[in-house]
Amino acid sequence: MQTFGELIDHGDALGQVLQSTPVLEAVEPPLSEAQGLVLEGDLYARFDSPMHENSAMDGFALRSADAEVGRVFPVVDEAPAGSPATKGVGEGEAVKVFTGGVIPEGADAVVPVENTSGYGAEFELKSPVRSGANVRGSGEDVREGELMLSDGAEIGPSEIALAASQGYGSLPVRRRPRVVVFSTGTELVEPGSRELSPGEVYDSNSYALLAQAREAGAGVSRMASATDDPGAIRSAMSQALESADIVVTSGGVSMGERDLVKEMLLELGVEQRFWGIKLKPGKPVFYGTREDVRFFGLPGNPVSAMVCFELFVRPAISRMMGRREREDPGRPRTEVYFDEAVENKFGRTHAMRVSLTRTDRGWRAESVGAQGSGLISSLTKADALAMIGPECEGVAAGEPVEAIVLRPGVLTSPETPAGG
Ligand code: AMP
Ligand code: MG
Repeated sequence: MQTFGELIDHGDALGQVLQSTPVLEAVEPPLSEAQGLVLEGDLYARFDSPMHENSAMDGFALRSADAEVGRVFPVVDEAPAGSPATKGVGEGEAVKVFTGGVIPEGADAVVPVENTSGYGAEFELKSPVRSGANVRGSGEDVREGELMLSDGAEIGPSEIALAASQGYGSLPVRRRPRVVVFSTGTELVEPGSRELSPGEVYDSNSYALLAQAREAGAGVSRMASATDDPGAIRSAMSQALESADIVVTSGGVSMGERDLVKEMLLELGVEQRFWGIKLKPGKPVFYGTREDVRFFGLPGNPVSAMVCFELFVRPAISRMMGRREREDPGRPRTEVYFDEAVENKFGRTHAMRVSLTRTDRGWRAESVGAQGSGLISSLTKADALAMIGPECEGVAAGEPVEAIVLRPGVLTSPETPAGG
């Protein structure tokens, strides 16, 4: 029987993953495909935006010095968005303008049509107009040469808007990692295919891991589960290793006779980096590399698989995408405390599923209940993983504990009850 040997610390394991995982090369996809990716290099404004002074309203451009209430203005030209007027505005004159229309020569203010007698060859001014009213200054959004987005910025809708407004049709970003997931286990049945026979379970892990990888920003694909048979595992594995930057499997990495994943990997030339972590849940995690491919063999217990994905695979995806260490916007860290002492006699870091409540002392963590590694329903209740130990045998009531927030929305949710 193969045994784990010395288990490594959770922090060391993460360190090894990050240290052996490169940032992927830069690519330049069209804007519409850059969402969720990380900018490579700083991005500067190409020109003053808006390029020209323009109107913020539909109305008339005029000289504010002429703007006495009751005065009648002849309308000498018009300037819809996209076609500047050919005439300037002389003393006592006005040019009809539309929102976005360029402010004509001579004018310094726009009076909205509702403050006049209305459209026509002339109009009467109904209310005063100060200089600069309803005029958008050139360069008031960004100035030519200004740093708009810094290297490492996560591209979301606002970043796409800004880049597009400056005429960028594509953006240099780090390539999206390709993650392939599959489960191993003879007992597994494809959800939706048929009823279970005694002893069988539906393959929930590959769907869970697929969703987690996608949530982390990876390009994902899932393969059908492999039985606990050397041939089946080897052929699934070699297929996955062909096309992936990261392969994630579940099951078959413990010390049982049917736990063949590690053996098959070594046969296929994957170099073992570690196997066995001082972690609960998730002790038997295997991590290895083969050239450019990272391989994570996660345990089959559904909670272990998902928690270990959070702790090791997600950071690897983030690294490949070019996010800075510990700057995963989707997984902020925060200090939490427990109302009562929490023991940890396992000698391993306990990644404890907790719910969070805001109180006047900070974030109070509370166990979601039983912490068994098969309790998938517990994950739907967890806001965070509180990382306890292993250097201590638990934490005292009120003692600060670092937590990885799985649902960043709770940190800002107004619904979180205050008090406590
Ligand atoms: P293993 O790590 O292969 O020993 O599996 C540990 C436990 O997790 C067993 O109870 C398995 O039935 C269960 N399990 C393994 N793979 C999956 C999966 N893909 N989906 C749901 N449960 C699984
Ligand atoms: Mg198994």
